[in-house]
Amino acid sequence: MKKTLIIILVSIAISSCSKKTNMQQMSSLSGQAAQLSNVPVPKFSADSAFSYLVKQVDFGPRAPETPAHKNCLNYLNRKLGEYADTVHLQKFNVPGYNGVMLHLANVVASFNTRAKTRVLLTAHWDSRPRADHQPGGAVDKPIPGADDGASGVAVLLEMARDFKQSPPPIGVDIVLWDGEDYGKEGDLNYYCLGSKYWAATKPFSYYPIFAVNLDMIGQKDLSIPKEGYSVQYAPDIVNLIWKTAAEMGVTQFVDTLGEDIYDDQIPLDNVGLKAVDLIDFNYKYWHTLEDTPDKCSPESLSAVGRVLLEDIYKKIPVPVS
Ligand SMILES: [Zn+2]
Repeated sequence: MKKTLIIILVSIAISSCSKKTNMQQMSSLSGQAAQLSNVPVPKFSADSAFSYLVKQVDFGPRAPETPAHKNCLNYLNRKLGEYADTVHLQKFNVPGYNGVMLHLANVVASFNTRAKTRVLLTAHWDSRPRADHQPGGAVDKPIPGADDGASGVAVLLEMARDFKQSPPPIGVDIVLWDGEDYGKEGDLNYYCLGSKYWAATKPFSYYPIFAVNLDMIGQKDLSIPKEGYSVQYAPDIVNLIWKTAAEMGVTQFVDTLGEDIYDDQIPLDNVGLKAVDLIDFNYKYWHTLEDTPDKCSPESLSAVGRVLLEDIYKKIPVPVS
């Protein structure tokens, strides 16, 4: 993820057809010919989620073209295969720096595949190949990526386990992005490689009612402001999530406007999805070798997971058939 230091013109190329589809789906949120589900909200296990964070970090830094990257991909594919109705790898190659060809893969899992009302949940599973912000000077070593990478995936793996035990009333798709954090600072062409590839190849008819991307949501003292682009392009979804958090007393969601962050929500915005980026960018260990599990907490993962489960099971009307 990259804080935008320059004004980035986000081209929202919404075709008239996709816009109509989104609006039709959003109308169900207002309660027309739809009802709220009676399916109980699963109990999110903070400890289980945290174990998924530790497991990823234990592979070593998941930088592209490393054994840890390959091993973690196999693990995520297998784990989601246990929980999801369908899972597949979206493999793609992208030229990297210094003539290196990057062999990347998004992991795509679906739950309640027949449901037409769907939401998309995403996080990046790769970790950064260099510690640009190491105290004392940048270090050309990959970072552990406990918060920056593993935290978002950990929450989604735990939610996937919940979806298996108590199938959600609406359809849920999880995509774990590869190659999010590959780019050198300021070189946006090399960031968000997985989400860009997915957005460019997405089925034309696929328009979930909204998407939520999780990034850097595991640190102790988690405090998530409303990210700038999310407020701009998905204000109603931001309000839905923050209202739910307030009702639940989840204080990690704070009602302030945050910075504009160039993250995996941007490629989704660019193809007309309503995407929210949940991120706490105020992290001392960002892009350092100290981004390790001891800087993170089960409670932070749980705060995010519980709010999203509440929205999915209780806040989105299910169309009456
Ligand atoms: Zn990062």
